[in-house]
Amino acid sequence: MNNYFIILAAGKGLRLKSNKPKQFLKYRGKMLVSHSIDRAIESKLFKKIIVVVPKQYKKILKNYRTNKVLIYSGGKERCDSSLIALKKIHKYRPKNVLIHDAARPNFSTELLKKLISNLKNNKAVIPFIKSSDSLKYKIRNKYINLSKQSVNLTQTPQAFNYKSLFMLASNYKHKIEDEATLFLNKNYKVKFISGEKNNYKITYAEDIKQKKVFFGIGFDIHKLIRNKKLYLGGIKIPYHSGLEGHSDGDVILHAITDAILGATGKKDIGTYYPNTKKFKNISSSKMLKPIIENLFKFNFSINNLDINLICENPKVSKYRDKIINSISKLTTLNKDQINLKGKTVEKLGLIGKEKAIACEVIVSITKND
Ligand code: ZN
Repeated sequence: MNNYFIILAAGKGLRLKSNKPKQFLKYRGKMLVSHSIDRAIESKLFKKIIVVVPKQYKKILKNYRTNKVLIYSGGKERCDSSLIALKKIHKYRPKNVLIHDAARPNFSTELLKKLISNLKNNKAVIPFIKSSDSLKYKIRNKYINLSKQSVNLTQTPQAFNYKSLFMLASNYKHKIEDEATLFLNKNYKVKFISGEKNNYKITYAEDIKQKKVFFGIGFDIHKLIRNKKLYLGGIKIPYHSGLEGHSDGDVILHAITDAILGATGKKDIGTYYPNTKKFKNISSSKMLKPIIENLFKFNFSINNLDINLICENPKVSKYRDKIINSISKLTTLNKDQINLKGKTVEKLGLIGKEKAIACEVIVSITKND
């Protein structure tokens, strides 16, 4: 195992419009660069992991500094930083070296293993994927179409025989986009292997932005009374009693409304629908509608609804599909985002004696901007 892993994290990440270079911004719970360092450590494939960062950011990674992880200041260009790292490990006489761009946090250990095993018979091994977009190449003022079949989109980590790469990199004085270029420029053989779709490069702010997820909980209970129609989830259910209330008493829709208001931090259903004349006998579908519209207006989307309907009778199983259908229409959710569970209470208490029906709901929403 004479493998070394170099992580290039000295770039300025200008495209992200942030004060900090992107490799030090948070991505999925930790710094972008940490994903690559952690993956390399966990893989147990490397003698040393070398991270090259801008000088003023060396401190940010101080907790990583061990015998195994070495942190160095990078150079002006990518190729300078990569050469600095190659020189620093020269004394260890590495056999293989992998060079990786810190902006690709999602490569797998399997990819590392595949790269290293291909180095047995090759001096340069490069992962690539095919483009799903069509490609146009500009020559002077003319665009020509490139066949997708003949274009390889190259990724990192790129794996090399250390000696060969060190020699090429030390003698090359121009800017390069990646180390594979050094081999290709000399017409040396490069082995291309399949990369990973998930191993994409974080380039734009949208790539790194964390979407915020919120949860809301709703609960409602209404008394069952004779001579009222029963509404559950926005539909009429044949039953000898209905739910008492200022409105149609639809416990499911009320609990959904409260859950959504809760998730968005907008108080409760009573704030918007007080027991005034205006709302007397209002259908609960009409109450829910503006709450949903407002949710979408402020760029939220619902991930899922989970509903517990607590009653002895009627039996939920009989109406489940109809209720889910109705809620799907009211909320514009797909049916598979809505779950409805029926729950009895072993004939205990008011609900058990069929004097009331209760409902609890949990909703998860995402803020998209
Ligand atoms: Zn209610």
